[in-house]
Amino acid sequence: MDAFVQAHRNIIIDTTLDSLKKHGFEARFFPSREEAAAYIMEIALDCNTVGIAGTHTARALGVVPMLEKAGKKVFDHWKLKPGTPEELECRKSQMLSDLFLASANAITMTGEIVNRDGCGNRINSMTFGPGKVVLVVGRNKIVPDLDAAIARIEEVAAPIRAMSLSRKTPCVQTGYCMDCDSPERICRVTSIIHRQPMLTKITVIILDEELGY
Ligand code: SF4
Repeated sequence: MDAFVQAHRNIIIDTTLDSLKKHGFEARFFPSREEAAAYIMEIALDCNTVGIAGTHTARALGVVPMLEKAGKKVFDHWKLKPGTPEELECRKSQMLSDLFLASANAITMTGEIVNRDGCGNRINSMTFGPGKVVLVVGRNKIVPDLDAAIARIEEVAAPIRAMSLSRKTPCVQTGYCMDCDSPERICRVTSIIHRQPMLTKITVIILDEELGY
């Protein structure tokens, strides 16, 4: 890789890590998925239950089978039929798990965590309930500030998520948010975590690759 490209990436990642730490979050950088997965398994050592949000990023590390193999009870609503009582119960269990794993829609270089949800179970679980929260983010989710975080959600994360869910929303056609009134709208709750929540320890893991959306 071009040395200047690498230097630019390093500045962005180092600034983000410093800002997150200043805001009370634990923040770690890993160059590979394997190292990040090993760190998550270390964090999970004293956990019996693990909730996992609807995230491609955290799953891409392969930690779900690793956690199950280690004897953890994993609450993964993607394994259940949507809209069933079992799926709803699973989402609720995530909120009281010993460890909650998710990604984020955007992490700012100024040290905030920004998300937009349809149901809100992911946002709930990030801020209060689980014993520990670990967020795994690719470097593509780092943005300069809060305005850029909202722009990233509306121009990238939400339209792609709507596509992946086969929603009949205008962003699926335009590629960017139209602030729709569709009954299938996925954007219903926005959360900005400005500082480490008082009763929840959040660890942000930044990976040196583009991962998730
Ligand atoms: S508000 Fe509607 S148009 Fe905008 S990103 Fe969400 S689902 Fe798409």
